[in-house]
Parts: sequence; C-alpha cells; structure tokens
Amino acid sequence: MAAVRGWFWCGKSRSMIFEELRKIQNNPGNEGFLPESELRALSRRTGTPLYRLQEVASFFPHFRLEKPPTADVQVCRDMACHLHGADEVLDKLRPLANEFDSRQLTMDGVSCLGRCDRGPVACVNHHYFSQHSLGELETIIRETIAGRPPQADHDPPLPFVDPAHWKIDPYAGKPDYRAIREFIQNPDSARVLKELETADLLGMGGAGAPAVRKWTDVWQSASPDGEKFVVCNGDESEPGTFKDREILLLKPYLVVEGVILAGLVVGASRGFIFIRHEYADQIAAVRRAVADAESQNACGVSILGQNRSFTLEVVESPGGYICGEQGALIETLEGNRAQPRNRPPQLETNGLWNKPTLLSNVETYAWAVTIAIYGGAWYRDQGLNGCKGLRFFSVSGDVKRPGAFEVPIGLPLGELINTCAGGTLDGRPPAALAPSGPSGGFLPARLPIEGKRLPEALRAKLPPDATHLDLLDLPLDLALFRQLGLMLGAGIVVYGHRADMLDQALNCTEFFRNESCGKCVPCRIGSQKLVEIAGEIARSRRDANLAATREFVRELAQAMEMTSICGLGVSAPNPLISWLKYFSTAPQPERPATDQGQKPVLGERRR
Ligand code: SF4
Repeated sequence: MAAVRGWFWCGKSRSMIFEELRKIQNNPGNEGFLPESELRALSRRTGTPLYRLQEVASFFPHFRLEKPPTADVQVCRDMACHLHGADEVLDKLRPLANEFDSRQLTMDGVSCLGRCDRGPVACVNHHYFSQHSLGELETIIRETIAGRPPQADHDPPLPFVDPAHWKIDPYAGKPDYRAIREFIQNPDSARVLKELETADLLGMGGAGAPAVRKWTDVWQSASPDGEKFVVCNGDESEPGTFKDREILLLKPYLVVEGVILAGLVVGASRGFIFIRHEYADQIAAVRRAVADAESQNACGVSILGQNRSFTLEVVESPGGYICGEQGALIETLEGNRAQPRNRPPQLETNGLWNKPTLLSNVETYAWAVTIAIYGGAWYRDQGLNGCKGLRFFSVSGDVKRPGAFEVPIGLPLGELINTCAGGTLDGRPPAALAPSGPSGGFLPARLPIEGKRLPEALRAKLPPDATHLDLLDLPLDLALFRQLGLMLGAGIVVYGHRADMLDQALNCTEFFRNESCGKCVPCRIGSQKLVEIAGEIARSRRDANLAATREFVRELAQAMEMTSICGLGVSAPNPLISWLKYFSTAPQPERPATDQGQKPVLGERRR
C-alpha cells in the first residue's frame, strides 16, 4: 500500500523508494545492480508504478541498472584533486583498460568525493584511496580484479586540526543533552529564538540568512494536521568544502542535539539528517549519536519523561551534487528525482510533503546547541574586527596544511591561509583563490578596486591612490564580501603560481555542466556552451577573440541567472567570467591543444 507518494510500507515500517532500491542493489545475489525482475517485483509488492521506480533509479549516480565490472574505478576530477594531478593519474591508469574488458574494469573521472584535503582521491568499488602512488593504485586495481580487494584507507583524522579546542563543543566530548534538558524544563520557544537573534547566527550552508528567521517562520507556520519537520543538510558536495565532514565525524552529538532542539522549538515531531553517501564513517558516527540520544531518552517518545516526542532518522544520500540544494533535497526525501523546486512557496511553510519544514546546515544546528547553552551574547562576542561569532572553513589546494578550521568571523583571510593552513606550498602569496568552491569563481590575491564601491572603513585603510586591495587582508566576513560583489563560502581553494587558471576555470565549468540536473533548459544547454567556450579558448589561446567572448559570456550568464531555478545555473558562468575578468591578460603557461570542451576531461559521467 503506498502511504505517501515516494514512500511505501515495507513490513511494519515506512520506507523511501531509494532506500528500497539500495537494499536490492546491496543484496549480494544481485551483483551490485538493480535487475529488471527485482524492480518489477518491488513495483508489485508496493503498488508503485514501475516507471516511478525507474525514474528514481536512473537519476542518481549511486544506482546501477547494469551489472558493474569487477573493478569500478573512479577518480575525483574536481578542484583540489584536479590541481593535484587527477587527470594525470587517470591518464596513466588508462592503459590498464587495454588489458581487461569492460566486465572486469571501468575507469572514469567523477565529481567531488569529499576528500579535497587529501587528493588526488580514487574510489574502487566504493572504497576510497587517497594520495596513493600510481604503482599502488595499479596494484589495488589488479588485486581487485583478481578477487583480492585490498583493505580501503581509513580516512585519517586531519593531522593539523585539534578538535579538543573547538569552542563549538560545550561538552568537551561528553554530551549530557543540556540544551534539550533546559528546553524540556522551560519549554519557551521565544527564549531560544531570542538567543539565536542575539547571537546573529547565520546559516552556514552558503546562503547566510539569519538562522532565527527560518526557525521563527517554521515555528509560526500552521500545519493542517500539526505535522512539521526538521531536516539537516549534510550533503556537503561543493568541491573544496569538507568542514561538515569533520563536524559530523568528531561532534556528531552536537548535530543530533541541535536537530532535536530545533524540533522542540519549532513544534516538529520528526527529523532527518541527510548525509552524502561518500561519508560512510560520518553516517555511522551520527547513527551512534542518535542511538545514544535515544538511550538517554533525549530523543524518541516522551522525551525526558515529558509530553514531547521527536523521532530522528539518518538518511544516506543516493548521490549527486544537486541533492544538497534545498528543494532538491526535499524532493529526494519524498522519493523523487533530485530536481530543485520553484520557490515560493518557501520550505518554511510548504516543505517536506507540503508541511512546514526547517532545513538547515550541519554546522548551524551544532552552533544552536552551543548558543542555547552559553547564550547568544557569548557567541556574538567571539568575532573579530567588528564581526560576530565563529564558523568553520575548509582550506585546500596549494597549502601546506589543508584542513577544516574553526575561526572567529572577521579573521583576516591571510591568517586562515597562513596561520591555520600553513601558507602556500612555495611560501609565496597565492596566485589565486576560490573563496566559495567553484561557485564564486577565482580571485587574484591583489584585487583591482576600480568600479567597486568600497565600504568606508575599508577605503580608509587604503592609500588614496590605491588601485588594488590585498585579498589576504580582507576579514572573513560574508557581509563585506557581498558588499564587494564577491562570494564567500565555507570551502576556500588556494592556487599557487604553477596553476593554469584557464585550465582550472574549464575544470570548474565542466563540474557545473556535469552536475546540472537538466530541469531548466538555459542551465542544461548554457553550462555545456560554457564548457565549449572555455575549451575553445584553451585550444586557441593567443588567437582567442576575448572581447567578443566576454560579451557573449556576459549575455549567456544573464540569461542563465534570469531563468535558472536554483543557484547552480546562476553560479555556473562564474569560473569562466572570473578568468576573463582577472586572469586572461596575465601570462599563461603553454599547453598542448586537446579536445577539451567536446567531452568531459576524465571520462563520461553517468547521467
Ligand atoms: Fe537543475 Fe540547473 Fe535548473 Fe538548478 S538551474 S534546477 S541545476 S537545470
């Protein structure tokens, strides 16, 4: 019996379509794929039309409709891995494909695998191998084909990060669910919301909207049957961003408590923590934390003996960058293809199953616990240079100590790169920075200020005749970056002087093309067009008519911005636009002509 579209009853429990598909695929008898006969059986068993199962199965890269080879090798091709030679790794491994047929071995480049600090990263049959030599990878592949798959790497803890000193954890590793206890004793939602407002906590997922606004909207939204939901977005798939990975692994109890607290405050009784499938250790850690909360009666029915209940499930994403987009995530949870929704209506009023839904990032929920315990004023006062609060950044690329770092908001960017991440590999100032993964494009270390309206405080620090500002001096302050027309995300990728920024722009443009869900025609076609343009410039270099290209890309970007449903289509032109703006007149390294721009650099993606 189908209970809710996209879910159905399996035995006594309600299950999502993709969880049932995963069970079928993981059944050893099915050899790692979804046989047609099993899909038909599932369709009959659940009353779900076969086409519904097929539309979901064919969308997500996690699912296979044909038997996989004995060794399915994937090499991450995005930002930091690309910078660290992922193309070369794949090119040098390719001759292996001549020794084996496609039932034994396939090799592809894939989108970010979430290990930007330890690239290049290869994945063999869902096991991850970071920074292995070509010889080691070849042995791993041969042993896998021979039926002796080697033990996968256990992702080591970040060597340069000391989570014992993270201020985010008021429990110093020993949670006692104080925020939940205090709320249950004094169930005053307005009090908690006031603390969030005092803290000026911003959403840490990229948009940077005040957390209190979303929480208040869901709290005040009426639901026809009283049901509301809380969803935690742990689908951290933006290349260069891996700070939630560390919070989920090292402080899972804060995320769990934050989601439960949010549920109690806004009046929800059910929550989901949605985590990308490449984070297997994190999924296990969060499941243990949920079990611990349940065992302490901080989660489940009659929390701490009182008349409030909140159930919490950990959901493993079926894969794809677009699942991290809010509307797409909700569609996925409903058992549909991960295609973003038009908004309005907003999720706070019409979210999961059209009910009021609070959807926030992992880090936002974790900070909510700290703020509930220490107070909003404590969090607010942690900032520097007139900014408020603390937050995490991940730093990767050409730095000595890539990692995820908790820093005061307002810390100069240079301190994050030089003090936390150890500075660049060659000790020189960076040649370029991507301050928001691929979405914000690239910035030179010395940013031209012509045509920019600088805030008074910033202008006062510059000589009157200044033509540039030093990016490393800028405080890590989202509002300031926005005033300058720049983006600031949670993942910062640093490029040394060896980097060919046109090649990096082409690489990021390919990422967006590959991850476009295809719902909006301008994004689907425009992202491919951008790849072709970047590829054409890469081939022709000196002959490129950049003035005409600039104008064409500007018009294309405008069309994509006006017509795209989600941020992917809006951001996709940024890598190429930023290269045209800041790097196209700089001397570029020579590189041989290739067929880039005609097809993905590292093999074909699945969808
Ligand atoms: Fe999909 Fe692109 Fe449209 Fe976003 S903008 S919904 S990724 S087609």
